[in-house]
Amino acid sequence: KNYSQADIRQMAKDENVRFLRLMFTDLFGVIKNVEVPISQLDKLLGNKLMFDGSSIDGFVRIEESDMYLYPDLSTWMVFPWGSEHGKVARIICEVYSNDRKPFVGDPRNNLIRTLEDMKNEGFTDFNIGPEPEFFLLKLDEQGKPTTNLNDNGSYFDLAPVDLGENCRRDIVLELENMGFDVEASHHEVAPGQHEIDFKYADALTAADNIQTFKLVVKTVARKYNLHATFMPKPMDGINGSGMHLNMSLFNKDGNAFYDEDGELQLSQKAYWFLGGLLKHARSYTAVCNPIVNSYKRLVPGYEAPVYVAWSGSNRSPLIRVPSSKGLSTRFEVRSVDPAANPYLAIAAVLEAGLDGIRNKIEPEDSVDRNIYRMNIEERHEEHITDLPSTLHNALKEFEKDDVMRKALGSHIFQSFLEAKKLEWASYRQEVTQWERDQYLEMF
Ligand code: ADP
Ligand code: GLU
Ligand code: MG
Ligand code: MG
Repeated sequence: KNYSQADIRQMAKDENVRFLRLMFTDLFGVIKNVEVPISQLDKLLGNKLMFDGSSIDGFVRIEESDMYLYPDLSTWMVFPWGSEHGKVARIICEVYSNDRKPFVGDPRNNLIRTLEDMKNEGFTDFNIGPEPEFFLLKLDEQGKPTTNLNDNGSYFDLAPVDLGENCRRDIVLELENMGFDVEASHHEVAPGQHEIDFKYADALTAADNIQTFKLVVKTVARKYNLHATFMPKPMDGINGSGMHLNMSLFNKDGNAFYDEDGELQLSQKAYWFLGGLLKHARSYTAVCNPIVNSYKRLVPGYEAPVYVAWSGSNRSPLIRVPSSKGLSTRFEVRSVDPAANPYLAIAAVLEAGLDGIRNKIEPEDSVDRNIYRMNIEERHEEHITDLPSTLHNALKEFEKDDVMRKALGSHIFQSFLEAKKLEWASYRQEVTQWERDQYLEMF
């Protein structure tokens, strides 16, 4: 909603809000909070609130560290879990640099910038519907998360109501209290794994929602003595957690991907967007699957994609075209995982798709057979390539692609690349238990 400053003052008073939690997101997708007492409201509304940007990952150097938080008033939300000290409201902020310009290293500002790019192409909205999955894990006596799954349930299981079911219901209720439109909530395939889907929204709101969602899930889980993790593959041998992104472009006439007379009822622009999504798939993987662990999920056998292909019927490929059409005509990109910074991931897939539209990139034919049953020659014939198998390989593709540099802007592109190369370098020096088990006695 478009609140005025007066609305904010009034709501703060009416709801007995005593603390303001000012939120923004760092390079790695981690939510940062600056909490101030309500006495600072005037300062905040006057764009005068400062913080030290040098302590934030991927932001700036010490010399230029003074930054401002400009509140986005439309994101005002009172957390339902007040305490005896009064309630806490959150506002998501845009980070501004010392010279009062939107800071280019702020992932949210960057998404705002790429959405302008989309508007220049004649579209009004990029709609995103995320499907985040997560695990609920038991805590040990010290309150540290264990790898003990909290149930033995499975997909759509109607097992006796357990801690996990209750916890998930509580999460859904809290989300609804906060204005989320929850469309579905169910147990996922793996034990201890859950999914909650909320209604699509414009890209910026959707990314904000994803960040808030993670915070709510983690907070409510704690009340049940559980730890909620969005780590993409916490356990080998069972499914990992994805965050499929459903996406569509709207213009003033409605869903620009829908064409009643098109093949699969998709418009020409939808096909070009798809062409871009496929062409750049190997390079946005680094952004959508940004951690070493992400690549342990992208393996055959666990419902996660491994190959670059699309289908209108099959669920296994990277991109699926769900059968419901009209307003819900959309592409579902299935590689994305919940460790991705949603602002960056959405900017990356948007620019990939727009590149397809600008350059009229035709997608390869759809693959409606099970790709996992095809051998390498058959895949070759169908022009099916593999997604990168490691963070290292993903970064090599990312680095080469100018469309990714454009999607993230030079500042973020460079700091992301540097940080991720360091992460890989650190991982690569580890000697794992798997290696000792395999080699210690053999050699
Ligand atoms: P699945 O078929 O993979 O189970 P779900 O039905 O669980 O998908 O989730 C569908 C998601 O797609 C929801 O978040 C929904 O709001 C979203 N969605 C529906 N229509 C659109 C659209 N036009 N653009 C983007 N997202 C959409
Ligand atoms: N958990 C699966 C993944 O890793 C997805 C399961 C589903 O289709 O919802 O992507
Ligand atoms: Mg799922
Ligand atoms: Mg899905």
